[in-house]
Amino acid sequence: MSSFRVEKTASHLAIVTFDLEGEKINKISTDIGKELEVLLEGLKKDRSIQGMILVSGKKDIFIAGADIYEILSVTSSQEGTEKSREAQRLPALIESLPFPSVAAIHGACLGGGLELVLGFSYVIATDDPKTKIGLPEVSLGILPGMGGCVRLPKRVGLQNALDMILGAKVWPAKKCFKTKLIDEWVPKEILLERSLEVLEEGIWKKRKREKVSIQSLLLEKNRFGRSLIYKKAKEQVLDKTKGHYPAPLRALEVIYETLDRGMTDALAIEAEAFGELVSTSICKNLMGVFFLQEAAKKKTGSNTPDILPKVIEHAGVVGAGAMGGGIAQLLSHRGIPVRLKDIETKALSRGLSTAKKLFDDLVLKKKLTTREAYQKMIQISPTTQYSGFKHLDLVIEAVIEDLSVKQKVFLDLQASTSPETILATNTSSLSVKDIGSACAHPERIIGLHFFNPVHKMPLVEVIRVKEVTSEETVVTAVQFVKQIGKVPIVVKDVSGFLVNRILMPYMNEACYLLEEGISISMIDQTVEAFGLPMGPFALTDAVGIDIAQKASHVMYQAYGERLKPHDFLDKVVQAGFLGNKNNQGFYKKDKKEKHENATIYSIIDVKPREQAYVSQDWIERMIFLMINEAALCLEEGVVEQPQDVDVGMVFGMGFPPFRGGLMKYADSVGVDKIFSELEILERRYGLRFKPALLIERLARSGGTFYEH
Ligand code: NAD
Repeated sequence: MSSFRVEKTASHLAIVTFDLEGEKINKISTDIGKELEVLLEGLKKDRSIQGMILVSGKKDIFIAGADIYEILSVTSSQEGTEKSREAQRLPALIESLPFPSVAAIHGACLGGGLELVLGFSYVIATDDPKTKIGLPEVSLGILPGMGGCVRLPKRVGLQNALDMILGAKVWPAKKCFKTKLIDEWVPKEILLERSLEVLEEGIWKKRKREKVSIQSLLLEKNRFGRSLIYKKAKEQVLDKTKGHYPAPLRALEVIYETLDRGMTDALAIEAEAFGELVSTSICKNLMGVFFLQEAAKKKTGSNTPDILPKVIEHAGVVGAGAMGGGIAQLLSHRGIPVRLKDIETKALSRGLSTAKKLFDDLVLKKKLTTREAYQKMIQISPTTQYSGFKHLDLVIEAVIEDLSVKQKVFLDLQASTSPETILATNTSSLSVKDIGSACAHPERIIGLHFFNPVHKMPLVEVIRVKEVTSEETVVTAVQFVKQIGKVPIVVKDVSGFLVNRILMPYMNEACYLLEEGISISMIDQTVEAFGLPMGPFALTDAVGIDIAQKASHVMYQAYGERLKPHDFLDKVVQAGFLGNKNNQGFYKKDKKEKHENATIYSIIDVKPREQAYVSQDWIERMIFLMINEAALCLEEGVVEQPQDVDVGMVFGMGFPPFRGGLMKYADSVGVDKIFSELEILERRYGLRFKPALLIERLARSGGTFYEH
């Protein structure tokens, strides 16, 4: 059976419906490309055909892009270049048709999908919010290799093309129309009707493709202007990627190099660059992370398929602080009305301002209209009482990190909600079991650990209390996390859960390095050069030094000597240094400039030594300790598999995606090497480096985390 259906109209137009067999989405692969080529060659020869329209047979997807599994299977740059050359034939074939063609887009039109569309004579898209058009290739470590780098600048201008390709952007129909990427946008209901009209009445001939703004005349149309754009774009890319991600830079070079070339030469340059990128380990790692995310989204939280999640329509948040305000905003943004409770009206207005500011930012970024933001904002109803809690499906507690306060809140919630309401805590270090211990119906108690800032951090740890939390509660919580657009991982109720537990020895080791006289900024820079978004001290400042200190003691109690905290955090907190929140941390901001806080050194009695070089040894000490803690988590079943660790570390702490995740990185280094290094470090520094049994076992058997 074919993935394309062709229907011929009385006016001799061919309506081609792409409906990939056995799949929920349409994607382009070598086989599909061949099928389409045969179809197009057939239409080309049919003299009766006066025009062609391409539509999708899928619900809200036009074409999701190229088949990523096929791209992942490419093993050499030569093979990659050949694949690109083959795929480039499709839009070229559409361009060469002896009749006009219309791409009628509804739903996502991404990557190879858009590159195909660029070959059409006329493009119409629906004004539906599900219609999103873009080239996200560089986020997967490749570049548009079906002619996108060459055709897009010609269609939308150099600056817009760079914006979309280098930023891996996806645009709504309105922006596509403004930039002339599409020729029209229409309501979904008349998409086909209008497409037919465009061909039947020759409207396609009136399209206006060239965008001649003053800026484009001044900058894009002359060599000097172009080189300015190139220079600026390069600076921006390097600033953003810190040189860790080659794809945007390579895409920039290809776009710049091919601007004045003929099509044949230009496509050859693009294909060559595609081949170079697709075979790199960075590309494989980025695609690996994409698949991890997709797999996490598919998990239900239970192995029993017949347990169905309850629908969360109304929610409550208790505690309107930094986290509560952020969670309330997220929920209302995602269409869930929220009752926001605090003990003080002052705190409530702070929480509401947090939410308002986030909505205002979305308006500024043109992601919401002022009216939409207002309508979402009024979905958060503040209260100092538990009134209106009876009908809620879920309540998330985010009050201060104090066991007795949280226990009291849970008892209050028990009295003010229905027995079916799911009660979740956002605690970061306390035991979920202890928090809900006095409640009747403990089966509905669960942890939902959001990360700070809530609107930015993609991960939510779903904490299941063994033999207490019901399967239905877990399944509902996992579904809820997906509903609000976050990535869930199910974690056992242990101190620090997964992410904070793995972070603890790493932060601790940073303190030991500091004790040895390596400066705060040098340690942070070393970690940033490794690819993490910020170093351990900048992170501690962001989290709050007092919070990190408190958590370090909770974990010391739970895990003993191995996680004995260095006393620096105690000393710094005692001196009143809390981090960013009181602008007294390891860093300090003066007139917007952030710099090391020199007073810290006198508090901890350390003289930073002049150090001209960065040692690989430092990074190994910090990162290998994380790997060791993650191995212990796997041994103890804190999460089920190494892939869960990687989802947690990439989406919860920003572990560099180009390294594929913490466990993937460990495998690339070699578990045997990590084991022998840990043994050496244990002899030098003591127990905190004692290798986990899992590491020892894998090292001795020559195994890897991903395949154990
Ligand atoms: P916060 O101090 O900013 O806010 C706590 C809020 O709880 C305050 O507004 C306070 O008035 C309110 N509150 C106190 N007792 C209350 C009660 N009995 N009923 C209702 N409200 C009450 O704290 P935060 O940083 O938002 O943290 C909240 C929770 O989230 C803590 O458990 C914390 O461990 C956890 N958490 C924090 C972070 C973070 O980075 N800040 C990250 C993840 C999880």
